[in-house]
Amino acid sequence: MKDEYLSDDELKTLKGMLDEQLESLMSQSREAVSALTTVRETDADPLDLAVSESNRDFTLRLADRERRLVGKIKYALERIQAGEYGVCESCGDAITYGRLMARPVATLCIDCKTEAEQMEPGRRMF
Ligand SMILES: [Zn+2]
Repeated sequence: MKDEYLSDDELKTLKGMLDEQLESLMSQSREAVSALTTVRETDADPLDLAVSESNRDFTLRLADRERRLVGKIKYALERIQAGEYGVCESCGDAITYGRLMARPVATLCIDCKTEAEQMEPGRRMF
């Protein structure tokens, strides 16, 4: 097996990215919630109402996707704490630093990911 496991510095960089991403998602969702409240308070005639309804649907869908991403980031941070981060959940091989830089929440190596996508073509995330 090649030595592709993460060094301490690489791990620190990736943890920093995850922390930052989590923080920005948290503040985004706080903003979304306050925007939602503002729209509700200013509802006037039926046309405005329809517009704000569809805005709200959009915001809720967005929030749902963000919630899932927040869950993934928290999971990645847990794995860092447990010392399991950067290891493929399927085959136990190292996930390369380059792949993690592009997608810090990855839990599968590129081989397993490709395989999973071939088995489930409709469930591709991102
Ligand atoms: Zn794998």
